[in-house]
Amino acid sequence: MAKKDPSELTVEEKLRTLFQLQTTLSAIDEKRAIRGELPLEVKDLEDEIEGLKTRYEKIEREIDEFQRAISQKKGEITDAEQSLERYKKQLDEVKNNREYDTLSKEIEFQELEIQLCEKKIKEAQIKVEEKGKELEYTQQTIEDHETALAEKRTELSEIVSETKEEEAKLKEKATELESKIEERLLTSFKRIRKGARNGLGIVYVQRDACGGCFNKIPPQRQLDIKMHKKIIVCEYCGRILIDPELAGVKSEVKEEKPKRKRTIRKKKTEGEEA
Ligand SMILES: [Zn+2]
Repeated sequence: MAKKDPSELTVEEKLRTLFQLQTTLSAIDEKRAIRGELPLEVKDLEDEIEGLKTRYEKIEREIDEFQRAISQKKGEITDAEQSLERYKKQLDEVKNNREYDTLSKEIEFQELEIQLCEKKIKEAQIKVEEKGKELEYTQQTIEDHETALAEKRTELSEIVSETKEEEAKLKEKATELESKIEERLLTSFKRIRKGARNGLGIVYVQRDACGGCFNKIPPQRQLDIKMHKKIIVCEYCGRILIDPELAGVKSEVKEEKPKRKRTIRKKKTEGEEA
């Protein structure tokens, strides 16, 4: 088939080509979005691992503190035992009741001191054990996350090369379609697309509304769109409008029902309020 001069195309052909171009460009946008999101997932995992490592170090420090407390208490016990031994020897040489009482009280005090230290040691040992388990659990979680991260990175590089390949093919298709569209129309289409948040320069009519901004289209305008005789833009958002049939989009009969229900319910509420 000989290539036609773009300006000789019918409005119908122009619209159809433009819509195909839109579909292709949207597919490119999607590939780029996929590539944009994956690094974020990787970053999230990296941040989580970083947080876990900080926690691991904190637990290690806590264990150290408890162990230091244990050795300190052990030292105190040794001191108390030495005093105890000394007092017990002195007890054999007491000269009066007053001295005996004083020494007995000292012995009693040292014995209590030892008991207290032993209790503290036991408590700290329990803490060390608990923290040890926490440490082990944190280490395991870090390892799991690191495995997930490695997988995610592999997945990322695969997707990047895959989507880049697909994108290149789509770009080729887009260039070919662009060559079929007259310069002026293409320029304004690109301008509309650039200004649109979802990257749509041409949209089909959906439930009597613009498929881009969802504002209702007046019946006469809808008829004009169905005629395919001239290029019509949405009066609210400026996007080019196309008849779904011409765009090759199946009409959404199934989707109509819930919508109507919603409208009825809304009207009821309004009536009740009035
Ligand atoms: Zn619109």
